[in-house]
Amino acid sequence: MKFGVLALQGDFREHIESLKACGVDAIAAKTLSDLESIDALVIPGGESTTISKLAKSFELFDLIKTRINSGMPTYGSCAGMIMVANTIIEPASGQESFGGIDIAVRRNAFGRQVESFESDLSITGIAGAPVRAVFIRAPWVESWGSYVEILASVEQAGGVHPVAVRQGNVLATSFHPELTADHRIHQLFVEQIAQA
Ligand code: GLN
Repeated sequence: MKFGVLALQGDFREHIESLKACGVDAIAAKTLSDLESIDALVIPGGESTTISKLAKSFELFDLIKTRINSGMPTYGSCAGMIMVANTIIEPASGQESFGGIDIAVRRNAFGRQVESFESDLSITGIAGAPVRAVFIRAPWVESWGSYVEILASVEQAGGVHPVAVRQGNVLATSFHPELTADHRIHQLFVEQIAQA
């Protein structure tokens, strides 16, 4: 089983390290042949408008979209969550997502005053201590379809906002587990594949 981390922009190296810490083989995927050769994909945090633009200019967009939507296990973190969302609320001009999970996300949703924060989250499927979640200009899930499983939410401004979700082959988090030494989110992704 070969994992690839989409390496167009963002913190793909940290995801490769986290996957390796879970004992799996992971490459930086940046060409068509890399993307054809992998069995599972991680889309890192960074800037979703840039990832979308680069995927199109390197002619990778259609292949990634097709592979995710035909069942390749995929995990999107932060900008990666935006890229796997079926709908982006108020996208930048020309911005498109690959889709794969029936959620509508709002970019930079937690607002300017709290562009970055950390929170201890209890996450469905992860036993033991809560996960320290790092949010950096993070999106939240604003609406979702009935097949979407909410694994964790954050309360803010009187609302409860999902920040970790799963549907079928796709897992997405608003936060950045690759920036901590806790690899349980990556482990959850690896186990989800083993169980499928
Ligand atoms: N705000 C960024 C975007 O819209 C995501 C930030 C991140 O990945 N840390 O793509």
